[in-house]
Amino acid sequence: MAKVTQHLGFSAQDVAQAADLLRAGDCVAFPTETVYGLGADARNGLAVAAIYEAKGRPSFNPLIIHVADANSARAFGQWSDTAQSLADAFWPGPLSLVLPLVPNAGLSELVTAGLPSVAIRVPAGDLAQGLLRSFDGPVAAPSANPSGKISPTTAEHVLAGLTGKIAAVLDGGACAVGLESTIVGLTDAPTLLRAGGVPREAIEEVLGAPLHDPIAGDITAPGQLSSHYAPNAHIRLNASSWEAGEKTLGFGQMECDLNLSESGDLSQAAARLFGHLHALDAREGDRIAVAPIPEAGLGAAINDRLRRAAAPR
Ligand code: AMP
Ligand code: MG
Repeated sequence: MAKVTQHLGFSAQDVAQAADLLRAGDCVAFPTETVYGLGADARNGLAVAAIYEAKGRPSFNPLIIHVADANSARAFGQWSDTAQSLADAFWPGPLSLVLPLVPNAGLSELVTAGLPSVAIRVPAGDLAQGLLRSFDGPVAAPSANPSGKISPTTAEHVLAGLTGKIAAVLDGGACAVGLESTIVGLTDAPTLLRAGGVPREAIEEVLGAPLHDPIAGDITAPGQLSSHYAPNAHIRLNASSWEAGEKTLGFGQMECDLNLSESGDLSQAAARLFGHLHALDAREGDRIAVAPIPEAGLGAAINDRLRRAAAPR
């Protein structure tokens, strides 16, 4: 569905308009000091699904949420002295912290990909800061490029890849860092999950100790954890009918325990996917059957996640 992508400038009015678009559930690209991010309201599952749709991402990785300051970060990630030291030293700046998720903080489960942790960053730059303050909420934002293409460092790069697919881009000129954020995991001993704009040595100096490296086998690609939310129940995919004793996850008009989308809408299915899997897993029984999901559009990412959830372990 092609839409008109507005090319917004950097006036206060442009920023306010971008914040209104985020509030309305639209995707807006904005400059940070690292690269241009494709932002959406992190509390709105449909808005987050629209990020995946615009990028054509074939899989659901957890997304980094962007907030205006460390105080706002504490509403979503469980805070610690280590988090405070790193925030003091590097925020605003190109460092993302993975923290234990604050329960019931209101984030869409598509943002965390169902994990009990959340990655948070406070970006620098007047436009990013202005947008986050004006919006006054968490903004989920991966890089604003089609999946598999290089990250955009100008509004022109964003428009070249995503015109017609997103509501607007805020144009703040070229990004200063051009490298993605360094990701440090604090759910356990401090671990370097991805190298990026803040050098490892600088972080270690603040910590006064070396960062751990991710355990081999935990990482499939730089910046991508293979550890993912997996239900305890055994999962049967592409079920054309239900068997006795199964907890059932439907798609489209059918009898089932929970339905990803009664109307067969893939954006709605993506927004509900992790919540419904958690909810079914919590119910009595050890088998979940899932109706066929079309492979088109967001269906590819939904099926990718379901296949991983169904894989033997
Ligand atoms: P980006 O593509 O720059 O938005 O970075 C996203 C990456 O951040 C993911 O692929 C993960 O490596 C990491 N990440 C985000 N959220 C989490 C999380 N909750 N737990 C662990 N890693 C995360
Ligand atoms: Mg990217």
